[in-house]
Amino acid sequence: MRAAVYRGPRDVRVEDVPEPELESSTDALIRVTHTAVCGSDLWFYRGDSDRDVPSKVGHEPMGIVEAVGDDVRSVDPGDRVLAPFKISCGYCEFCRKGLHTSCVNGDGWGGDNGGAQGEKVRCPHADGTLVRVPDRYADDEDVLRSLLPLTDVMGTGHHAAVSAGVDAGETCVVVGDGAVGLCGVLAARRLGAERIVAVGHHEDRLELAAEFGATDVVSERGDEAVERVCELTHGGANHVLECVGAASSMALAAEVCRPGGTVGYVGVPHGLDGGLDLFSFFGDNVTLRGGVAPVRAYAEELMADVLQGTLDPAPVFTKTVDLENVAEGYRAMDEREAIKVLVEV
Ligand SMILES: [Zn+2]
Ligand SMILES: [Zn+2]
Repeated sequence: MRAAVYRGPRDVRVEDVPEPELESSTDALIRVTHTAVCGSDLWFYRGDSDRDVPSKVGHEPMGIVEAVGDDVRSVDPGDRVLAPFKISCGYCEFCRKGLHTSCVNGDGWGGDNGGAQGEKVRCPHADGTLVRVPDRYADDEDVLRSLLPLTDVMGTGHHAAVSAGVDAGETCVVVGDGAVGLCGVLAARRLGAERIVAVGHHEDRLELAAEFGATDVVSERGDEAVERVCELTHGGANHVLECVGAASSMALAAEVCRPGGTVGYVGVPHGLDGGLDLFSFFGDNVTLRGGVAPVRAYAEELMADVLQGTLDPAPVFTKTVDLENVAEGYRAMDEREAIKVLVEV
């Protein structure tokens, strides 16, 4: 079968690789139809994080179940499914408390299960991991495009909003205009926030933020951004969604948070080798909550809203490529030509 393989910085190729097979009675084999390139894929793509060479890549699979092991109960061959970026068992202590990303039986995509940017993938712990799309939507392309972000960025934006304690009628600030930040805006609106200030650096992305429900957009940087947000919010917001993970965005999040407020952070930390300056949190009793998003925990409620037409993150996909051209997808995201790239397999 064909699959994307990481060959080193800025070198992702589609190659012939062995097909994955069922290995355990709790596995399912998925024929991937849709997947995506992620902002987090850019860390290894740019050589900023270590990754084995060669290794299969991709962690946002959607497709059709091709075969299941004897103990799989929740899906059958032919079912349309999607899977979060982490594999989880569904029954351990942490899965049961909604922290699927800490599953003691968990795993990531890639390696011997095959990456999600490939024609097939083996899903361990199929009952805990896979999210089944109702049959009546199973072949509705528009719905599938809207559901695909539930594998990662939509669930992650939602986790930022939940961690920040966003609630009906509240004011919040979303730091970051990447796919996660944009989904954070959608999530905040969905939770009923009345005022949503989106902070980013790209005009086109901030325009999309406004379409997604941001009431104000701020494109200034550094101190000027802090000043502008504090002006708009009369001294900061009680709820801040940090959707970047950089030292500068964490600092910005703390500074635009109102004393006693909460920063929900979901950006993969990077460039924080000098440590996080806790004084900006300490001085104003700002709470820091969040971490890697357990998107499996949110899949059903978010899917329900997508299916009833009240939530649509599909516009984060500003470019579509087929699997053979996945390298073009990486390039477009690396050069910020695309917000997020959908890969048709
Ligand atoms: Zn991702
Ligand atoms: Zn588990």
